[in-house]
Amino acid sequence: MDFSITAKDGSARVGSISTAHGDIQTPAFMPVATAGAVKALGMDDMEALHAQILMANTFHLHLKIGEQLVGAHGGLHGFSSWHRPFMTDSGGFQAFSLGFGMEHGVGKIASIFPDEVTGERREQGKAGGDEGEAHRADGGDQTHTIVLPPGPQRKRPEPKLARVTEEGVRFRSPFDGRWVLLTPEESMRIQHTLGADLILAFDECTSPLSDKDYTATAMRRTHRWAQQCLDAHHQALASGLAPDGQGLYGIVQGGAYEDLRRESAKAIVGMRTQNGIATDALKGKGMKEEGCSGGAGTMCVPPGFDGIAIGGSLGKSKQDMLAVLDWTIPLVPDELPRHLLGIGTVEDIFWSVSRGIDTFDCVMPTRIARSGHLLLHPRAGGTPRNKFRTSVKLARWKASTQPLDSHCGCQCCRHSMGFLRHLFMSKELLYYRLASIHNLTVILGLMSEIRDAISRGRLLELKTEWMG
Ligand SMILES: [Zn+2]
Repeated sequence: MDFSITAKDGSARVGSISTAHGDIQTPAFMPVATAGAVKALGMDDMEALHAQILMANTFHLHLKIGEQLVGAHGGLHGFSSWHRPFMTDSGGFQAFSLGFGMEHGVGKIASIFPDEVTGERREQGKAGGDEGEAHRADGGDQTHTIVLPPGPQRKRPEPKLARVTEEGVRFRSPFDGRWVLLTPEESMRIQHTLGADLILAFDECTSPLSDKDYTATAMRRTHRWAQQCLDAHHQALASGLAPDGQGLYGIVQGGAYEDLRRESAKAIVGMRTQNGIATDALKGKGMKEEGCSGGAGTMCVPPGFDGIAIGGSLGKSKQDMLAVLDWTIPLVPDELPRHLLGIGTVEDIFWSVSRGIDTFDCVMPTRIARSGHLLLHPRAGGTPRNKFRTSVKLARWKASTQPLDSHCGCQCCRHSMGFLRHLFMSKELLYYRLASIHNLTVILGLMSEIRDAISRGRLLELKTEWMG
Protein backbone atom coordinates (compact mmCIF):
# COMPACT_ATOMS: atom_id res chain seq x y z
CA MET A 1 0.00 0.00 0.00
CA ASP A 2 0.95 3.63 -0.46
CA PHE A 3 -0.30 6.82 1.08
CA SER A 4 -0.10 10.30 -0.38
CA ILE A 5 -1.44 13.63 0.82
CA THR A 6 -3.03 15.88 -1.78
CA ALA A 7 -4.31 18.81 0.29
CA LYS A 8 -4.05 20.20 3.81
CA ASP A 9 -6.13 22.60 5.87
CA GLY A 10 -4.40 23.19 9.19
CA SER A 11 -3.58 19.73 10.54
CA ALA A 12 -6.40 18.12 8.54
CA ARG A 13 -5.42 16.43 5.32
CA VAL A 14 -6.95 14.92 2.21
CA GLY A 15 -5.07 11.93 0.94
CA SER A 16 -5.25 8.64 -0.86
CA ILE A 17 -4.38 5.15 0.37
CA SER A 18 -3.63 2.92 -2.64
CA THR A 19 -4.29 -0.78 -2.25
CA ALA A 20 -4.52 -3.78 -4.55
CA HIS A 21 -8.33 -3.41 -4.49
CA GLY A 22 -8.44 0.30 -5.21
CA ASP A 23 -7.77 3.66 -3.66
CA ILE A 24 -9.33 5.06 -0.51
CA GLN A 25 -9.83 8.81 -0.49
CA THR A 26 -9.22 10.08 3.03
CA PRO A 27 -10.51 11.16 5.48
CA ALA A 28 -12.62 8.01 5.18
CA PHE A 29 -15.12 6.14 7.33
CA MET A 30 -15.10 2.34 7.30
CA PRO A 31 -18.47 0.68 7.90
CA VAL A 32 -18.04 -2.41 10.05
CA ALA A 33 -18.67 -5.80 8.39
CA THR A 34 -18.10 -7.92 11.49
CA ALA A 35 -18.39 -11.38 9.97
CA GLY A 36 -17.81 -10.24 6.39
CA ALA A 37 -21.14 -8.45 5.91
CA VAL A 38 -22.58 -5.15 7.10
CA LYS A 39 -25.65 -6.04 9.13
CA ALA A 40 -28.89 -5.82 7.10
CA LEU A 41 -27.11 -4.68 3.92
CA GLY A 42 -25.72 -6.27 0.77
CA MET A 43 -22.54 -5.47 -1.10
CA ASP A 44 -24.56 -3.75 -3.86
CA ASP A 45 -25.90 -1.45 -1.16
CA MET A 46 -22.37 -0.72 0.03
CA GLU A 47 -21.29 0.13 -3.50
CA ALA A 48 -24.32 2.36 -4.01
CA LEU A 49 -23.43 4.09 -0.73
CA HIS A 50 -19.92 4.72 -2.11
CA ALA A 51 -18.34 2.93 0.82
CA GLN A 52 -14.64 2.81 0.02
CA ILE A 53 -13.48 0.19 2.52
CA LEU A 54 -15.06 -2.18 5.06
CA MET A 55 -13.68 -3.24 8.44
CA ALA A 56 -14.03 -6.98 9.10
CA ASN A 57 -13.41 -8.77 12.36
CA THR A 58 -10.67 -11.36 12.71
CA PHE A 59 -12.04 -12.76 15.99
CA HIS A 60 -15.45 -13.55 14.50
CA LEU A 61 -14.14 -14.91 11.21
CA HIS A 62 -11.53 -17.09 12.93
CA LEU A 63 -13.94 -18.57 15.45
CA LYS A 64 -17.16 -18.76 13.44
CA ILE A 65 -15.98 -20.04 10.07
CA GLY A 66 -12.20 -20.28 10.13
CA GLU A 67 -9.76 -18.45 7.89
CA GLN A 68 -9.01 -21.56 5.82
CA LEU A 69 -12.55 -21.65 4.43
CA VAL A 70 -12.41 -17.93 3.77
CA GLY A 71 -9.04 -18.45 2.10
CA ALA A 72 -10.51 -21.19 -0.11
CA HIS A 73 -12.82 -18.53 -1.56
CA GLY A 74 -9.84 -16.38 -2.44
CA GLY A 75 -9.88 -14.52 0.88
CA LEU A 76 -12.37 -12.04 2.23
CA HIS A 77 -12.91 -10.37 -1.14
CA GLY A 78 -13.94 -13.59 -2.86
CA PHE A 79 -15.82 -14.86 0.19
CA SER A 80 -17.97 -11.75 0.61
CA SER A 81 -17.98 -10.51 -3.01
CA TRP A 82 -16.78 -7.09 -1.80
CA HIS A 83 -14.12 -6.22 -4.32
CA ARG A 84 -13.04 -2.91 -2.84
CA PRO A 85 -10.57 -2.69 0.06
CA PHE A 86 -10.98 -4.42 3.41
CA MET A 87 -9.29 -3.79 6.75
CA THR A 88 -9.21 -6.46 9.46
CA ASP A 89 -8.53 -5.89 13.12
CA SER A 90 -6.22 -8.20 15.02
CA GLY A 91 -8.84 -10.05 17.05
CA GLY A 92 -7.16 -8.93 20.23
CA PHE A 93 -9.79 -6.50 21.38
CA GLN A 94 -12.56 -9.08 21.51
CA ALA A 95 -10.28 -11.66 23.14
CA PHE A 96 -9.12 -9.26 25.85
CA SER A 97 -12.62 -8.01 26.46
CA LEU A 98 -13.49 -11.51 27.62
CA GLY A 99 -10.92 -10.97 30.35
CA PHE A 100 -11.30 -7.43 31.54
CA GLY A 101 -14.97 -7.20 30.61
CA MET A 102 -15.82 -9.90 33.08
CA GLU A 103 -13.29 -8.71 35.61
CA HIS A 104 -14.38 -5.08 35.66
CA GLY A 105 -17.98 -5.33 34.55
CA VAL A 106 -16.95 -3.25 31.55
CA GLY A 107 -19.05 -3.49 28.44
CA LYS A 108 -18.67 -2.28 24.92
CA ILE A 109 -21.20 -0.13 23.18
CA ALA A 110 -21.37 2.43 20.43
CA SER A 111 -20.25 5.31 22.59
CA ILE A 112 -17.15 5.22 24.74
CA PHE A 113 -17.95 7.76 27.38
CA PRO A 114 -19.98 7.01 30.48
CA ASP A 115 -22.17 10.11 30.45
CA GLU A 116 -23.36 9.36 26.94
CA VAL A 117 -23.84 5.71 27.68
CA THR A 118 -26.32 6.48 30.40
CA GLY A 119 -28.63 8.37 28.06
CA GLU A 120 -28.36 5.87 25.28
CA ARG A 121 -29.00 2.88 27.46
CA ARG A 122 -32.01 4.50 28.99
CA GLU A 123 -33.52 4.96 25.53
CA GLN A 124 -32.64 1.42 24.58
CA GLY A 125 -34.20 0.08 27.73
CA LYS A 126 -37.47 1.76 26.94
CA ALA A 127 -37.40 0.60 23.37
CA GLY A 128 -36.62 -3.00 24.11
CA GLY A 129 -34.35 -2.76 21.08
CA ASP A 130 -31.77 -5.23 19.89
CA GLU A 131 -28.93 -3.88 21.97
CA GLY A 132 -28.86 -6.59 24.57
CA GLU A 133 -25.41 -7.43 23.30
CA ALA A 134 -24.06 -4.19 24.65
CA HIS A 135 -23.10 -5.48 28.06
CA ARG A 136 -22.17 -9.02 27.27
CA ALA A 137 -18.50 -9.80 27.01
CA ASP A 138 -19.29 -11.93 24.02
CA GLY A 139 -16.88 -10.60 21.48
CA GLY A 140 -19.57 -8.36 20.06
CA ASP A 141 -19.03 -6.51 16.86
CA GLN A 142 -17.27 -3.51 18.34
CA THR A 143 -13.72 -3.00 17.32
CA HIS A 144 -11.78 -1.13 19.96
CA THR A 145 -14.05 1.10 21.97
CA ILE A 146 -14.43 0.60 25.67
CA VAL A 147 -16.90 2.04 28.11
CA LEU A 148 -17.40 2.17 31.80
CA PRO A 149 -20.81 0.86 32.70
CA PRO A 150 -23.21 3.40 34.16
CA GLY A 151 -24.50 2.85 37.66
CA PRO A 152 -23.11 0.50 40.26
CA GLN A 153 -20.55 -2.14 39.43
CA ARG A 154 -21.52 -5.77 39.40
CA LYS A 155 -21.63 -7.11 42.93
CA ARG A 156 -19.72 -10.31 42.34
CA PRO A 157 -16.93 -10.56 39.77
CA GLU A 158 -17.55 -13.28 37.25
CA PRO A 159 -14.73 -15.64 36.32
CA LYS A 160 -12.38 -14.40 33.63
CA LEU A 161 -12.71 -16.03 30.26
CA ALA A 162 -9.31 -14.88 29.06
CA ARG A 163 -5.75 -14.97 30.35
CA VAL A 164 -2.95 -12.76 29.08
CA THR A 165 0.63 -14.01 29.09
CA GLU A 166 3.78 -12.92 27.29
CA GLU A 167 2.91 -15.49 24.65
CA GLY A 168 -0.53 -14.07 23.84
CA VAL A 169 -4.08 -14.38 25.09
CA ARG A 170 -5.77 -17.66 25.86
CA PHE A 171 -9.54 -17.42 25.94
CA ARG A 172 -12.67 -19.49 25.85
CA SER A 173 -14.61 -19.03 22.61
CA PRO A 174 -17.94 -17.37 23.36
CA PHE A 175 -19.40 -19.33 20.45
CA ASP A 176 -18.56 -22.94 21.31
CA GLY A 177 -16.64 -22.83 24.60
CA ARG A 178 -13.34 -24.22 23.29
CA TRP A 179 -10.05 -22.72 24.51
CA VAL A 180 -8.20 -20.70 21.89
CA LEU A 181 -4.68 -19.21 22.00
CA LEU A 182 -4.17 -16.03 20.01
CA THR A 183 -0.57 -14.87 19.62
CA PRO A 184 0.96 -12.07 17.54
CA GLU A 185 2.17 -14.60 14.93
CA GLU A 186 -1.20 -16.37 14.88
CA SER A 187 -3.08 -13.09 14.42
CA MET A 188 -0.76 -12.23 11.52
CA ARG A 189 -1.20 -15.68 9.97
CA ILE A 190 -4.99 -15.43 10.20
CA GLN A 191 -5.00 -11.94 8.72
CA HIS A 192 -2.65 -12.99 5.90
CA THR A 193 -5.04 -15.80 5.02
CA LEU A 194 -8.11 -13.55 5.23
CA GLY A 195 -6.24 -11.29 2.83
CA ALA A 196 -7.52 -7.83 3.76
CA ASP A 197 -5.69 -4.91 2.17
CA LEU A 198 -4.91 -3.31 5.53
CA ILE A 199 -4.30 -5.31 8.70
CA LEU A 200 -3.61 -4.45 12.33
CA ALA A 201 -0.91 -5.57 14.74
CA PHE A 202 -1.93 -7.66 17.74
CA ASP A 203 -2.18 -5.43 20.80
CA GLU A 204 -3.38 -5.65 24.35
CA CYS A 205 -6.28 -3.30 24.80
CA THR A 206 -6.46 -2.32 28.46
CA SER A 207 -9.59 -1.40 30.38
CA PRO A 208 -10.21 2.23 31.35
CA LEU A 209 -10.26 0.84 34.90
CA SER A 210 -6.72 -0.52 34.66
CA ASP A 211 -4.27 1.45 36.78
CA LYS A 212 -1.20 3.13 35.36
CA ASP A 213 1.17 0.33 36.34
CA TYR A 214 -0.88 -2.28 34.55
CA THR A 215 -1.44 -0.01 31.53
CA ALA A 216 2.34 0.49 31.27
CA THR A 217 3.06 -3.24 31.59
CA ALA A 218 0.47 -4.08 28.93
CA MET A 219 1.74 -1.31 26.65
CA ARG A 220 5.32 -2.59 26.75
CA ARG A 221 4.08 -6.12 26.07
CA THR A 222 2.12 -4.66 23.14
CA HIS A 223 5.39 -3.16 21.84
CA ARG A 224 7.11 -6.56 21.99
CA TRP A 225 4.14 -8.10 20.20
CA ALA A 226 4.24 -5.28 17.61
CA GLN A 227 7.83 -6.21 16.81
CA GLN A 228 6.82 -9.86 16.44
CA CYS A 229 3.94 -8.85 14.14
CA LEU A 230 6.18 -6.65 12.01
CA ASP A 231 8.76 -9.42 11.63
CA ALA A 232 6.15 -12.09 10.89
CA HIS A 233 4.45 -9.83 8.36
CA HIS A 234 7.62 -9.06 6.41
CA GLN A 235 8.65 -12.68 6.44
CA ALA A 236 5.24 -13.58 5.02
CA LEU A 237 5.46 -10.83 2.37
CA ALA A 238 8.89 -12.04 1.32
CA SER A 239 7.80 -15.65 1.10
CA GLY A 240 4.50 -14.95 -0.67
CA LEU A 241 2.32 -16.04 2.27
CA ALA A 242 0.85 -12.56 2.63
CA PRO A 243 -0.88 -10.81 -0.29
CA ASP A 244 1.39 -8.45 -2.18
CA GLY A 245 1.11 -4.92 -0.92
CA GLN A 246 -0.85 -5.83 2.24
CA GLY A 247 -0.27 -2.95 4.66
CA LEU A 248 0.30 -3.45 8.39
CA TYR A 249 -0.69 -0.81 10.93
CA GLY A 250 0.97 -0.61 14.34
CA ILE A 251 -1.24 0.35 17.27
CA VAL A 252 -0.36 3.03 19.80
CA GLN A 253 -1.53 2.17 23.32
CA GLY A 254 -0.92 3.79 26.71
CA GLY A 255 -4.42 4.55 27.99
CA ALA A 256 -5.13 8.10 29.05
CA TYR A 257 -1.59 8.70 30.36
CA GLU A 258 0.45 11.33 28.53
CA ASP A 259 3.89 9.86 29.16
CA LEU A 260 2.73 6.37 28.16
CA ARG A 261 1.02 7.56 24.97
CA ARG A 262 4.18 9.45 23.96
CA GLU A 263 6.38 6.46 24.75
CA SER A 264 4.09 4.21 22.74
CA ALA A 265 3.88 6.53 19.73
CA LYS A 266 7.67 6.83 19.57
CA ALA A 267 8.16 3.07 19.93
CA ILE A 268 5.60 2.10 17.27
CA VAL A 269 6.62 4.81 14.77
CA GLY A 270 10.32 3.97 15.17
CA MET A 271 9.95 0.19 15.00
CA ARG A 272 11.69 -1.59 12.11
CA THR A 273 11.56 -5.22 11.14
CA GLN A 274 14.44 -7.19 12.63
CA ASN A 275 13.94 -10.51 10.99
CA GLY A 276 17.16 -10.36 9.04
CA ILE A 277 15.56 -10.98 5.68
CA ALA A 278 18.11 -10.67 2.89
CA THR A 279 17.86 -7.43 0.98
CA ASP A 280 17.11 -9.21 -2.28
CA ALA A 281 14.10 -10.88 -0.73
CA LEU A 282 12.81 -7.53 0.42
CA LYS A 283 13.14 -5.88 -2.97
CA GLY A 284 9.66 -5.07 -4.17
CA LYS A 285 8.16 -6.76 -1.13
CA GLY A 286 7.51 -3.83 1.08
CA MET A 287 10.92 -2.17 1.06
CA LYS A 288 9.99 1.46 1.03
CA GLU A 289 12.97 3.41 2.27
CA GLU A 290 14.38 5.88 -0.20
CA GLY A 291 17.91 5.54 -1.44
CA CYS A 292 17.86 1.78 -1.29
CA SER A 293 18.75 0.11 -4.55
CA GLY A 294 17.83 -3.31 -3.26
CA GLY A 295 20.75 -4.75 -5.19
CA ALA A 296 22.60 -7.86 -4.04
CA GLY A 297 24.78 -7.26 -1.03
CA THR A 298 23.48 -3.78 -0.21
CA MET A 299 22.03 -3.09 3.22
CA CYS A 300 18.88 -1.00 3.38
CA VAL A 301 16.98 0.48 6.29
CA PRO A 302 14.37 -2.15 7.07
CA PRO A 303 10.73 -1.15 6.75
CA GLY A 304 8.47 -0.26 9.64
CA PHE A 305 4.69 -0.06 9.91
CA ASP A 306 2.70 1.17 6.90
CA GLY A 307 0.26 3.10 9.06
CA ILE A 308 -0.42 3.96 12.69
CA ALA A 309 -3.64 3.25 14.56
CA ILE A 310 -4.61 4.79 17.87
CA GLY A 311 -6.35 2.27 20.09
CA GLY A 312 -7.13 1.31 23.63
CA SER A 313 -8.79 3.27 26.35
CA LEU A 314 -9.21 6.89 25.34
CA GLY A 315 -10.09 7.93 28.88
CA LYS A 316 -13.34 8.82 30.52
CA SER A 317 -14.46 11.89 28.58
CA LYS A 318 -14.26 13.59 25.20
CA GLN A 319 -11.58 15.86 26.66
CA ASP A 320 -9.47 12.82 27.54
CA MET A 321 -9.84 11.50 24.00
CA LEU A 322 -8.77 14.80 22.47
CA ALA A 323 -5.80 14.94 24.82
CA VAL A 324 -4.73 11.46 23.70
CA LEU A 325 -4.89 12.63 20.07
CA ASP A 326 -2.95 15.81 20.88
CA TRP A 327 -0.19 13.82 22.59
CA THR A 328 0.03 11.14 19.92
CA ILE A 329 -0.48 12.68 16.48
CA PRO A 330 2.48 15.11 16.51
CA LEU A 331 4.76 12.09 17.00
CA VAL A 332 3.41 10.31 13.90
CA PRO A 333 5.15 11.48 10.69
CA ASP A 334 2.90 13.11 8.09
CA GLU A 335 3.60 10.41 5.52
CA LEU A 336 1.97 7.63 7.60
CA PRO A 337 -1.84 7.24 7.45
CA ARG A 338 -3.48 7.50 10.89
CA HIS A 339 -6.46 5.41 11.93
CA LEU A 340 -8.62 6.00 15.00
CA LEU A 341 -10.08 2.69 16.16
CA GLY A 342 -13.75 2.36 17.00
CA ILE A 343 -14.67 6.05 16.89
CA GLY A 344 -17.30 7.53 14.62
CA THR A 345 -19.82 10.05 15.94
CA VAL A 346 -20.19 13.30 13.99
CA GLU A 347 -18.49 15.33 16.72
CA ASP A 348 -15.64 12.86 17.11
CA ILE A 349 -15.06 12.83 13.36
CA PHE A 350 -14.77 16.63 13.16
CA TRP A 351 -12.48 16.85 16.19
CA SER A 352 -10.27 14.01 15.00
CA VAL A 353 -10.05 15.02 11.34
CA SER A 354 -9.06 18.53 12.31
CA ARG A 355 -6.20 17.00 14.34
CA GLY A 356 -4.97 14.90 11.40
CA ILE A 357 -6.78 11.54 11.65
CA ASP A 358 -7.32 9.95 8.22
CA THR A 359 -9.60 6.95 8.78
CA PHE A 360 -12.23 5.71 11.23
CA ASP A 361 -14.22 2.56 11.79
CA CYS A 362 -17.28 2.34 14.00
CA VAL A 363 -20.45 0.28 14.36
CA MET A 364 -22.36 3.38 15.49
CA PRO A 365 -24.33 4.26 12.30
CA THR A 366 -25.65 0.75 11.72
CA ARG A 367 -26.04 -0.21 15.37
CA ILE A 368 -28.08 2.85 16.34
CA ALA A 369 -30.14 2.36 13.16
CA ARG A 370 -31.21 -1.05 14.41
CA SER A 371 -32.19 0.35 17.80
CA GLY A 372 -34.42 2.99 16.19
CA HIS A 373 -32.15 6.03 15.83
CA LEU A 374 -31.80 7.88 12.55
CA LEU A 375 -28.97 10.31 11.92
CA LEU A 376 -29.81 13.91 11.09
CA HIS A 377 -27.87 16.10 8.70
CA PRO A 378 -27.96 19.74 9.91
CA ARG A 379 -30.38 20.60 7.07
CA ALA A 380 -32.80 18.07 8.65
CA GLY A 381 -32.34 19.45 12.17
CA GLY A 382 -29.18 17.67 13.34
CA THR A 383 -27.23 19.52 16.06
CA PRO A 384 -24.72 18.53 18.75
CA ARG A 385 -27.58 18.92 21.25
CA ASN A 386 -29.62 16.09 19.70
CA LYS A 387 -26.39 14.24 18.83
CA PHE A 388 -27.41 14.48 15.18
CA ARG A 389 -30.11 11.88 15.63
CA THR A 390 -33.79 11.33 16.24
CA SER A 391 -35.71 8.34 17.50
CA VAL A 392 -38.08 6.77 15.00
CA LYS A 393 -40.28 5.79 17.95
CA LEU A 394 -41.23 9.36 18.86
CA ALA A 395 -44.99 9.95 18.81
CA ARG A 396 -44.44 12.99 16.56
CA TRP A 397 -43.53 10.69 13.67
CA LYS A 398 -46.65 8.52 13.93
CA ALA A 399 -48.81 10.58 11.61
CA SER A 400 -45.97 12.12 9.59
CA THR A 401 -46.41 11.91 5.83
CA GLN A 402 -43.00 13.54 5.25
CA PRO A 403 -39.60 11.92 4.80
CA LEU A 404 -36.89 12.50 7.41
CA ASP A 405 -34.75 14.50 4.97
CA SER A 406 -36.20 15.30 1.56
CA HIS A 407 -32.73 16.29 0.28
CA CYS A 408 -31.01 13.10 1.43
CA GLY A 409 -31.64 11.08 -1.73
CA CYS A 410 -31.30 7.69 -0.02
CA GLN A 411 -33.83 4.86 -0.31
CA CYS A 412 -35.00 5.41 3.25
CA CYS A 413 -35.85 9.04 2.65
CA ARG A 414 -38.21 8.12 -0.20
CA HIS A 415 -40.57 6.93 2.53
CA SER A 416 -42.53 8.92 5.10
CA MET A 417 -41.53 8.85 8.75
CA GLY A 418 -45.01 7.52 9.48
CA PHE A 419 -44.23 4.46 7.33
CA LEU A 420 -40.76 3.99 8.85
CA ARG A 421 -42.13 4.22 12.38
CA HIS A 422 -44.78 1.67 11.48
CA LEU A 423 -42.10 -0.69 10.09
CA PHE A 424 -39.99 -0.33 13.24
CA MET A 425 -42.91 -0.85 15.62
CA SER A 426 -43.98 -3.91 13.58
CA LYS A 427 -40.39 -5.24 13.62
CA GLU A 428 -40.45 -5.45 9.82
CA LEU A 429 -37.02 -6.41 8.49
CA LEU A 430 -37.21 -3.71 5.82
CA TYR A 431 -36.85 -1.09 8.58
CA TYR A 432 -33.35 -2.33 9.49
CA ARG A 433 -32.21 -2.14 5.89
CA LEU A 434 -33.64 1.33 5.22
CA ALA A 435 -32.41 2.81 8.51
CA SER A 436 -28.90 1.37 8.00
CA ILE A 437 -28.81 2.80 4.48
CA HIS A 438 -29.85 6.24 5.73
CA ASN A 439 -27.37 6.39 8.60
CA LEU A 440 -24.47 5.30 6.41
CA THR A 441 -25.57 7.83 3.76
CA VAL A 442 -25.27 10.59 6.37
CA ILE A 443 -21.85 9.51 7.70
CA LEU A 444 -20.30 8.66 4.33
CA GLY A 445 -21.76 11.90 2.92
CA LEU A 446 -20.20 13.81 5.83
CA MET A 447 -16.78 12.33 4.96
CA SER A 448 -17.23 13.46 1.36
CA GLU A 449 -18.18 16.97 2.53
CA ILE A 450 -15.11 16.97 4.80
CA ARG A 451 -12.73 15.96 1.97
CA ASP A 452 -14.19 18.66 -0.23
CA ALA A 453 -13.93 21.26 2.53
CA ILE A 454 -10.29 20.45 3.34
CA SER A 455 -9.40 20.64 -0.36
CA ARG A 456 -10.92 24.08 -0.51
CA GLY A 457 -9.44 25.27 2.79
CA ARG A 458 -12.83 25.63 4.44
CA LEU A 459 -12.98 22.84 7.01
CA LEU A 460 -13.68 25.34 9.79
CA GLU A 461 -16.70 26.69 7.88
CA LEU A 462 -18.06 23.16 7.41
CA LYS A 463 -17.49 22.39 11.07
CA THR A 464 -19.43 25.53 12.00
CA GLU A 465 -22.29 24.53 9.65
CA TRP A 466 -22.58 21.19 11.45
CA MET A 467 -21.54 21.97 15.00
CA GLY A 468 -22.61 25.62 15.29
ZN1 LIG B 1 -31.79 9.33 3.88
